[in-house]
Amino acid sequence: MPGCESVDLHVHCVFSDGRLAPEALARRAAGNNVVALAITDHDTLGGAREKSAACAENGIECVAGVELSCEYNGREAHLLSLFADPESSWAGRLEEMRLARERRMYEMLERLGSLGVKMTLGDMPLQGGVYGRPHLARALVAKGAVKSVKEAFARYLRDDGPVHVAKKRFAFAEGVDLAKRMGGVAVVAHPGVSGLLDDLGDMVGIGVDGVEAYNPGHGAETVARLLRFARDRNLLVSGGSDFHAPGEGADVGSQRIPPDVIAPLRELAAARRK
Ligand code: AMP
Ligand code: FE
Ligand code: FE
Ligand code: ZN
Repeated sequence: MPGCESVDLHVHCVFSDGRLAPEALARRAAGNNVVALAITDHDTLGGAREKSAACAENGIECVAGVELSCEYNGREAHLLSLFADPESSWAGRLEEMRLARERRMYEMLERLGSLGVKMTLGDMPLQGGVYGRPHLARALVAKGAVKSVKEAFARYLRDDGPVHVAKKRFAFAEGVDLAKRMGGVAVVAHPGVSGLLDDLGDMVGIGVDGVEAYNPGHGAETVARLLRFARDRNLLVSGGSDFHAPGEGADVGSQRIPPDVIAPLRELAAARRK
């Protein structure tokens, strides 16, 4: 049913804190009528080959991308680099993030140990990609230390919890610069969820190319506000489900994002590489 076709330009897989491998993710996306998919793992372009093969096998367009953890005025700000080139030499800077996340995981394991819960990195197998708090939360469930991921966050891992260690983040301007130098289009992810709606004007001044208008955390009013903002400021529009796992949060393809958002994003990325 071509009328139901949509795109999803923000999802996660096992290369960060998503639960599905690229193949299962792409199959699920295709089953939900997604025709183009950006697997934008947190702070890594790892698995680029697996991701593009998985999309190709399922007959959907693969958009390479990453969700960069940035800091804006002391707050967490997520920035997508869509159509980034995983082979670009600038993509090598993401290795800093991978290492910092690994170091952070050791620190969190140490804190957990001092609370009497003994765990190691071996309890959290990673097939490439980067660690995030959800890996530790799931390992705590598997070990029987807590009953659910929710409880793991409530007891230990929430931002002000006893085990949480702040992660390395790019200064926002640095993130925008990197997003573009990797050949990508810099898009502010879920501004309505991050509490950044009133900061978008300043972010445009810093050089962002677009905003993620469609996101499950945005009500209809926020989507409309962001579409208007993009039109008035001549910005690009993107959207995604931020899917992480079946049964958790929004499903891949659930946001019914019009496929025509993709051409202007692709064109800007292509122009940037010339
Ligand atoms: P990290 O990037 O390692 O700081 O982990 C952040 C991720 O943890 C988010 O993307 C969410 O997927 C997840 N997360 C954060 N807070 C909670 C929470 N209270 N309950 C469940 N998951 C959470
Ligand atoms: Fe996540
Ligand atoms: Fe995010
Ligand atoms: Zn995300």
